Amino acid sequence: MELYDIRTVRRIMSMFGLSFRKEFGQNFLTDPDVIDAIADAAFPSPDCTILEIGPGIGTLTRALASRYRRVVALEIDRSLIPVLDYTLSDCPNVTVINADVLSADLASLLADGFAAGPVAVCANLPYYITSPILMKLLESDLPFASVTVMVQKEFADRLCAAPGGKEYGAITVSAAYRGSAERLLLVPADRFVPAPKVDSSVVRISLFGSRKPLVPRNEEHFFRVVRAAFAQRRKTLVNALASAFPDLPKEQILAAVSSLGLPPDVRGERLSLQNFIDLSDRV
Ligand code: SAM
Repeated sequence: MELYDIRTVRRIMSMFGLSFRKEFGQNFLTDPDVIDAIADAAFPSPDCTILEIGPGIGTLTRALASRYRRVVALEIDRSLIPVLDYTLSDCPNVTVINADVLSADLASLLADGFAAGPVAVCANLPYYITSPILMKLLESDLPFASVTVMVQKEFADRLCAAPGGKEYGAITVSAAYRGSAERLLLVPADRFVPAPKVDSSVVRISLFGSRKPLVPRNEEHFFRVVRAAFAQRRKTLVNALASAFPDLPKEQILAAVSSLGLPPDVRGERLSLQNFIDLSDRV
């Protein structure tokens, strides 16, 4: 079934009386080379369970099912479930679940997968919630091997940014803490139906797992500090942390920042991952 063919996508959608739902970020892939490239990049061997977020009509899902042991696909749009039953009827290694990835209990949905071997994430992400999805994956302590995702090009720039620029933010620091991000592919907007307004990139984050080179004393607190540092970007780091942690005396935050050799008016985007680890250990 050539689901990437635009005419097939439109035919299937009209066969089931559906239209593309903008509120769910539905831009379906129509380039077979791009689909193969993302699926190939997800994991180096077939013995892997893949978590796919947002299978749509099953285009990438089929490519993943032909390469890997098992695919668990979470789709929020209930009206696409009968479509997926139809397009994936010859893929016995795919389990489709009607669920919102943001509220889903990934540990229990993927328990069998983690018990059986490596688990990797592979998805053409809905752009309206790229950031919360990635933060959920990066902040969870589930042992994913890697996260290979299609995101807006600007978002890929943020994931791979160096400290100091406006692209550098909480997502950059969280990704650098958990793994190493690399841009694999630029994908023009016309490779989707309907075409989004901007181009996209495929990014792979290879996760360190238990071999993280830098580790804070308290991981949950580290993520809170990182989120707080970028929550109000116009504020200095000290003021941003003071409003996020009202119980903490401002002088103590200031002392912690100075002890790292940073100026009192420094902003979050200047701090390296090492700085954030040290800061979260000290405040
Ligand atoms: N994988 C398909 C493809 O590449 O053609 C579709 C990708 S489309 C960009 C994003 C998909 O994510 C849509 O099917 C959409 O309904 C689904 N989706 C949106 N929000 C979601 C959520 N919170 N949880 C799970 N799926 C979601």
